[in-house]
Amino acid sequence: MSDNRLIIFDTTLRDGEQSPGASMNLAEKLEIAHALAELGVDIIEAGFPIASPGDFESVQSISRQVTGPTICGLARCNPADIDRAWEALKEAPKPRIHVFLATSAIHREYKLKMAKEEIVRRAVEGVTRARGYCGNIEFSPEDAARTELEFLAEVVEKVIEAGATTINIPDTVGYAVPEQYAGAIRYLKQNVRGIDNIVISVHCHNDLGLAVSNSLAALKEGARQVECTINGLGERAGNCSLEEVVMAVRTRNDYFNLDVGIHTKRLLPTSRLVSRVTGIHVQRNKAIVGQNAFAHEAGIHQDGMLKHANTYEIMRPEDVGVSRTDLVLGKHSGRHALSQRIRDLGYHLDNAQLQKVFDDFKVLADRKKTIYDADIEALAESVLHFGPAVWTLEAVSCTGGSATVPVAAVVLWYKDGTLHREAGTGDGPIDAVFKTIERITGIDVKLRQFSITSVTEDEDAQGEAQVEAEFHGRILRGRAVSTDIIEASALAFLQVINRALLREQLKMNPQTEEVSVT
Ligand SMILES: [Zn+2]
Repeated sequence: MSDNRLIIFDTTLRDGEQSPGASMNLAEKLEIAHALAELGVDIIEAGFPIASPGDFESVQSISRQVTGPTICGLARCNPADIDRAWEALKEAPKPRIHVFLATSAIHREYKLKMAKEEIVRRAVEGVTRARGYCGNIEFSPEDAARTELEFLAEVVEKVIEAGATTINIPDTVGYAVPEQYAGAIRYLKQNVRGIDNIVISVHCHNDLGLAVSNSLAALKEGARQVECTINGLGERAGNCSLEEVVMAVRTRNDYFNLDVGIHTKRLLPTSRLVSRVTGIHVQRNKAIVGQNAFAHEAGIHQDGMLKHANTYEIMRPEDVGVSRTDLVLGKHSGRHALSQRIRDLGYHLDNAQLQKVFDDFKVLADRKKTIYDADIEALAESVLHFGPAVWTLEAVSCTGGSATVPVAAVVLWYKDGTLHREAGTGDGPIDAVFKTIERITGIDVKLRQFSITSVTEDEDAQGEAQVEAEFHGRILRGRAVSTDIIEASALAFLQVINRALLREQLKMNPQTEEVSVT
């Protein structure tokens, strides 16, 4: 690999999934992994296999099914974690084990209660064990950015000797500032034997809004792998945003002089997919993929734009996947046109799913004159949604209005094929629907937010319902789209219920433990 090749390590499925409320099921993770492969990321960190049976299963499935990128699994520095990670990864054509152990004084003293010598010994043992399985090993000294440089250099040198092929320098708590962080990379470059034979990686958190800046500063000092997530998802304020770091390197190639293998036209479709799957909206003014990223409002800018796009635009919208031609599909559009559009929007459907979307599309096209991308996304979402649901909606209706008591009637399928009906009242029609669903399913959640927006701008637009609820201290989100807002609300709420049930199942499994890392 040339010295100028920048390796893109995506951790949307691992660190990104640790965002509050972003937990995904297997089908959702597979869908995103396929999209990441198509985007052209070099490495997918698919999960943390020992963390839960669900994590293990998704790393294993991604290893088996997703081709192209290297598939990576995370492990703490102990034999059980490393063995479990390998078990999940071993069928990947290109596997990588990522081992981590904290090195900063505060972690050593309070979390690990280990002296420096103990840390070095454990790190070397972990890397050696992982090397016994696989030739591609990444080591992360957790909280590296707050670790004494001399000690950091010592650990890094020892794990390189033990066979680590990538060394990641995480700013776990988002504390670093660009010059200082770059200085740490420079220090390691100058003081660690063997460092020129491995890849230096960066992993920055965004607590001070500096994740992308810190990452870029480190690239200037010779780091060649950047760990990042779609939409900057991740613990707390998130990680370095993939789309921002990639477009910075691309747009300012004159300054960075680095090659990236990302197909940038897939950035927006992938961003939308991740946002839909996790239920976490992208802020409007977010760089690259926000709705306003390429919108020009001021008259003087519009005038300049019309004369020459470069006057106010440093990137072409189409380069990141914004389509300027609004090709509208309608009743007479064929299966081929539809499936092409679905692919462009970032979805990977099999033939059966595609057929279902096509059937739904024909039904929708009868009800609605023009079908927009958002409509098609909604249809694709509904067939993906997403793995085996415990409860599915058969029918819902409700009455409202100021003079009557709101009453809802709900019919649900249970996964064993039985139908369940209930009717109930509430403070309003939607409340009545939600309460009735809770009664049928026996799951009580605490509603935190509920909203309905229209996904397109015409009169017969589909409504998108979003529900955020709390269940045993966890935030769960659901969203769904329908031309009927009551139906959309019921579907979104049911998604939350199904997610709550999934959490219950995981909790009942004794192998599950809560682990939170780097
Ligand atoms: Zn992290």
